[in-house]
Amino acid sequence: MIVMKFGGTSVEDAAAIDRAAKIVRGRLAEDPVVVVSALSKVTDQLIAMANAAGDGDRERALSLARGTRERHYVAASELLGTGVFAQIHSELESDLDALDELLRGIAAVGELTPRTMDNVVSHGERLSSKLVAAAFTARDIPAELVDARQCIVTDDTFTKAIPQMDATNDAVCERLRPLIREKRVPVMGGYMGATREGITTTIGRGGSDFSAAIVGAALDCSRIEIWTDVDGMKTADPNLCPEALRIKSIGFEEAAELAYFGAKVLHPSTVLPAVHKNIPVWVLNSRNPANEGTRITARAPHCRNTFKAIAAKKRVTVVDIIATRMLGAHGYLRTIFEIFDRHRCPVDVVSTSEVSVSVTVDSNEAIPLIAADLDQIADVKYGGRKAIVCLVGETLRDTPGVAARVFTAVKDINVRMISQGASEINITFVIDENDVPEAVQRLHTEFFSDPDPEVFARE
Ligand code: ADP
Ligand code: ASP
Ligand code: MG
Repeated sequence: MIVMKFGGTSVEDAAAIDRAAKIVRGRLAEDPVVVVSALSKVTDQLIAMANAAGDGDRERALSLARGTRERHYVAASELLGTGVFAQIHSELESDLDALDELLRGIAAVGELTPRTMDNVVSHGERLSSKLVAAAFTARDIPAELVDARQCIVTDDTFTKAIPQMDATNDAVCERLRPLIREKRVPVMGGYMGATREGITTTIGRGGSDFSAAIVGAALDCSRIEIWTDVDGMKTADPNLCPEALRIKSIGFEEAAELAYFGAKVLHPSTVLPAVHKNIPVWVLNSRNPANEGTRITARAPHCRNTFKAIAAKKRVTVVDIIATRMLGAHGYLRTIFEIFDRHRCPVDVVSTSEVSVSVTVDSNEAIPLIAADLDQIADVKYGGRKAIVCLVGETLRDTPGVAARVFTAVKDINVRMISQGASEINITFVIDENDVPEAVQRLHTEFFSDPDPEVFARE
């Protein structure tokens, strides 16, 4: 049994869905379970519609919804013969009508709760899974549409709900195992789930990778394939660094650090359920399925180069907390972190001195509130438009002098914070967002001019 996850660009239109069908057909003997994202950009558009409706702008919300409607109908008509199209059209229509109804309701009250937001955005995966299942059936794949909300059981932290693993594992096995036994191909939307009471939730942006890993782990599958629009994980974001190399194989821990610090090719949590069960994860290109992609393995392969990759995460805010009043008082770090915790704001990078603590957080609207709370105990400054740059590689553990090479490469770029991760496999620092392309480019030249052919590939 394998799990195959197709990301937004891999199901973006009829041509992409047709490619996905060919890839799945080639693996029918391995009993695939298919997890799909919304069509590319649809989640962004759904969020925009929900926000417009929340602001009371009903016309804008409905006009955006018309665009989404059109896109799904066009894809369906290109993928399906007239008979099947009529049936799918009416199924999509009832979902899209419900979406319009929801937007009208939100606009009428002029209030958008996280719970309603989740209901709106879940339409992306509801629609894509219907469309893909129908297209597969029309292409002789014995597809069976499965509602992810019957499988992924979460808590009620809407917009970033936490899957409840025991209940989810039971539900996944109960719902999917009988289908697989009958040689059916389950097709389900990623990213969404439901609470025990059946209320729709989503598990955080980019969450379809996580859904795939949860399903794969629950079913003890032999492999998880993440199909995307690049030839696997690369030594840097190919948009920032066109000469980035494909990483043939990378350790779980390395991949997790990279994902966490901005290599959005893989969702950070993906690797966890898979890691616990030692399930190999592959990142593959649906536009170039012959390429070997990247294999994520339990242990990092030996590599001549110090690093496997460079990641950059933008839209970060640095908060400087100068705690003169609490100087020497015990428990002051705890007090600070409790404040971030109270606002449910995760902290990424931390550096401390005797009197000050600097932390980075994802830029978000809670920061002024957090700063106001911190202000009670310390002097606080914060600044946005920062980025975290992170270099990751297992070899770092036993290579001296690396930090000097890193910081020489970026010596004329202003570095705000530095941290060498407790995991010992990354060097992380914070710079201005605008300096990211230059910094990544230079570090790439410094560390990847002579790549180990066992680990990296040019194509
Ligand atoms: P999907 O829709 O398939 O989930 P994403 O857009 O989430 O795809 O992730 C794929 C994108 O991640 C690539 O198109 C690429 O721009 C970006 N990316 C960032 N860092 C990396 C990296 N190190 N290697 C590969 N892709 C990366
Ligand atoms: N469609 C969701 C998003 O864009 C989930 C995913 O694609 O992984 O965030
Ligand atoms: Mg993704």
